[in-house]
Amino acid sequence: MSASHSDIAIIGAGMAGLACATRLKAAGRLVRVFDKGRGPGGRMAARRVELNGETVRFDHGAQYFTARDPAFRDAVAGWEAQGVVARWHAASRAAEDPAFVGAPGMNGPIKAMANAVGGVHWSTRIKDLTRDGDMWRMTTTDSADYTASTVLIAIPAEQASDLLQTVAPEFADIAASVTSEPCWAVMAAFARPLAIEPDTLRDAEAKISWAARNSAKPGRGGPEGWVLHASPRRSRQIIDRAKQDAAEILLADFFDQTGTDRVDPIHLVAHRWLYAQPTSLKGEPARYEPKARIGIAGDYLHSPRVEGAWVSGTALADLVLGGG
Ligand SMILES: Cc1cc2nc3c(=O)[nH]c(=O)nc-3n(C[C@H](O)[C@H](O)[C@H](O)COP(=O)(O)OP(=O)(O)OC[C@H]3O[C@@H](n4cnc5c(N)ncnc54)[C@H](O)[C@@H]3O)c2cc1C
Repeated sequence: MSASHSDIAIIGAGMAGLACATRLKAAGRLVRVFDKGRGPGGRMAARRVELNGETVRFDHGAQYFTARDPAFRDAVAGWEAQGVVARWHAASRAAEDPAFVGAPGMNGPIKAMANAVGGVHWSTRIKDLTRDGDMWRMTTTDSADYTASTVLIAIPAEQASDLLQTVAPEFADIAASVTSEPCWAVMAAFARPLAIEPDTLRDAEAKISWAARNSAKPGRGGPEGWVLHASPRRSRQIIDRAKQDAAEILLADFFDQTGTDRVDPIHLVAHRWLYAQPTSLKGEPARYEPKARIGIAGDYLHSPRVEGAWVSGTALADLVLGGG
């Protein structure tokens, strides 16, 4: 076999893909993971910015996560012990249901898992998947092609549906039945603390459905930093606006909503998530076809959360180990 062949290929190194890779590797299987992103995160992304000579990390995707599934709790306890996850009391709704964040940025556990599975091929978008004898062939956006005996797809539903259409139409239909809501996220920093309390604001009905003092998350520090998430409705209203326009509009919404006089930011950037949080499907948390050796995982198969992605990814690994 050539160096570009692997036993198992996983497309997508978000929480679902890496949870799957972690369990397969623990069972002694050889996996190779691909991700189109430049670095670890997926929807648990963290953006590094230099401000006033300090490195500041904004979590512009998932804000925190909870752990209710016993096996996921064990995984989170392991990350806590490693120092790549910390508790963020400001976000927990009840003492018995703690909120966790990645450390030093939200992508902390993603980075740790990527290292532990032996690395990920970053900046590698799989643009086409075809059958080649008894193997899967993955065509990338650069000149390299890869093959694998088993292929597992752990990418957002809308993108999975495109990739699977010709090779696994049943799985493509499952993914196509999912709709994800968009979310404009704003990262803003200020020279002085804003007179806004508490550190987290949520209001599903408002234009800004979530706002958090990012600089108050454990281990973050740096200048006063906020992350604002527009509600799905507000995001759709301004979905095609240029990034800087969207950032200004949503910052104005934020000050308006909190009854605060506008303060000029020292940093203001917006990021548009087209597929932020999916409607999730009822049924099995992962799907695997042992004859063709192809499977799917992702939050959309369980619940639109970090925990849902982990549960789905580990369930897919168990299916492979049981039937592959
Ligand atoms: C704005 C926002 C707020 C959120 N808030 C919360 C929250 O507070 N709490 C919570 O629990 N969850 C939250 N979530 C949801 C949570 O982030 C997701 O449920 C979870 O991270 C999904 O993990 P995943 O592995 O299924 O997908 P992803 O994290 O999207 O990972 C998929 C990976 O696949 C890669 N990929 C896609 N297509 C290809 C391709 N063709 N080739 C190679 N790689 C590809 C992507 O680059 C990505 O890294 C939020 C999400 C967003 C966007």
